[in-house]
Amino acid sequence: MRSWFRNIRLAIGTIAEGMYVTLDALVQTYRRKTFTSHFEYPERPVPIRPRYRGFHRFDLTTCIGCDKCARACPVDCIYIDKEKAKPPAKGFAVTGFKIDYTKCMFCALCVDPCPADCIFMGSNFDLSCFTRDGCVVDYAKLPLEVAFGQATLSPTAVAESKKVALPVWVKTAEPAAAPPPA
Ligand code: SF4
Ligand code: SF4
Repeated sequence: MRSWFRNIRLAIGTIAEGMYVTLDALVQTYRRKTFTSHFEYPERPVPIRPRYRGFHRFDLTTCIGCDKCARACPVDCIYIDKEKAKPPAKGFAVTGFKIDYTKCMFCALCVDPCPADCIFMGSNFDLSCFTRDGCVVDYAKLPLEVAFGQATLSPTAVAESKKVALPVWVKTAEPAAAPPPA
């Protein structure tokens, strides 16, 4: 008889404990409120930590095309295009600086070796896109205020950068065949 009462008490206690956890979680949900009641994203940016690593900030005007960042990248996701600068200028002109964000793991290993301090981890986190192609950002083709993070790295700006880059190659008309000798 005593063990029967003990089992009843144990069952009631267990159910009460479970209900307490459930009710507590329910109340906390109402106290915490929804994400959008704290942050007006996307109208206003969500506050981030000082050392947050978001999409890069890149300054094309100081990049010397030395490739050190690309060589330091453990997943090989930085692609740099450059051309020899026209005299009297020396060195190279960077014509493309693409980062493939389908591969980038935001490790920041590309930042430290840069001798010109022109690449940093930025605070942008909003690069939603509809295709994988949209994740490849060519910083050299973006307006400087977008590439250096003052303006958001919006999908529209990224799409615009691709418009400038394309078409990569256009087939030209075949030259007309020379008439056979008379
Ligand atoms: S953050 Fe890391 S993975 Fe991304 S580009 Fe830089 S080195 Fe490569
Ligand atoms: S390490 Fe710096 S200067 Fe060299 S290519 Fe990369 S971003 Fe440009």
